[in-house]
Amino acid sequence: MKFATFHSWRNPMIEFRADLHCHTTCSDGSATPQEVVKSALEIGLQGLSITDHDTIEAYEVLANDNINIDLKLLSGIEFSTIHKGSSVHVLAYAFNLKNKEINNLCRTLKANRIVRMEEMIHLLKKQGIIIDEKELFENKNTIGRPHLAEVLVKQKYAKSVQDVFNQFLGDGKSCFVPSNSMSTEETIETIKRAKGFAIIAHPHIVKNQNTLSDILNMDFDGIEAYYARFSSQHEKIWIEVAKKRDWIMTGGSDYHGKIKPNNALGCSWVDAETFNHLHARYEENMKVDNE
Ligand code: AMP
Ligand code: ZN
Ligand code: FE
Ligand code: FE
Repeated sequence: MKFATFHSWRNPMIEFRADLHCHTTCSDGSATPQEVVKSALEIGLQGLSITDHDTIEAYEVLANDNINIDLKLLSGIEFSTIHKGSSVHVLAYAFNLKNKEINNLCRTLKANRIVRMEEMIHLLKKQGIIIDEKELFENKNTIGRPHLAEVLVKQKYAKSVQDVFNQFLGDGKSCFVPSNSMSTEETIETIKRAKGFAIIAHPHIVKNQNTLSDILNMDFDGIEAYYARFSSQHEKIWIEVAKKRDWIMTGGSDYHGKIKPNNALGCSWVDAETFNHLHARYEENMKVDNE
């Protein structure tokens, strides 16, 4: 059996690695922001961006904690957006964490997620599946489908989170409700007004070719060319796309902890050149405190 060579393993001599895509308990990851930073340090990452779904609360959690963050942090978020009815995940980096528009948008998206969750619970009920709502909403920050899937598994309605997605909650399945998000284009504009970078997340997940072709023509700054366990052949496609458009090529693991055990933190990353380019803008943006 021939093993593919992965970006993360291609050159073990490279000293600087920054994972630009990971989730914490502030969205649907299973590790707290502090635990993610600790793990990042343990595996020798020097740069990190936490990109929770529709929330930047992890940065607040870290700022209020006294832990030693001995690596460079870059502001980040993964927005769920909608383009012509299809879901498109958009990564944003380097914006000022106090930016009012970004913070307001996060508040709206968080509230929308609760409404959407209630709609999915209603659809499950119609199929005779009654879930423990207290358990679902308890200690949740920004709620998402994986949380609902976990409760269904716990209540023995399915064997695994993946089974729940395959049967009920995956896009287009019987109890799926699309997120009430902002359009992809409006999201890009918001990110740009915050002087951040707008990046297409995990482009391989965009299965609809019309959607893919549309978003590749939008005003993005870059694309996630290095992702989790992409093979080098796979990366090549997105590297070509980026080169043609003079886009930044970002990369990350999409670490979720126990929820997605195959995506280990740091299994995909960017080098110092890419990270410093993003981080320089972040430092510049953070100097302005009246955003
Ligand atoms: P949400 O933000 O509530 O739409 O949930 C999105 C998250 O659900 C993604 O980040 C994935 O972790 C997970 N997810 C979405 N679709 C699937 C699927 N078909 N199989 C497994 N996990 C999925
Ligand atoms: Zn997620
Ligand atoms: Fe995503
Ligand atoms: Fe993600």
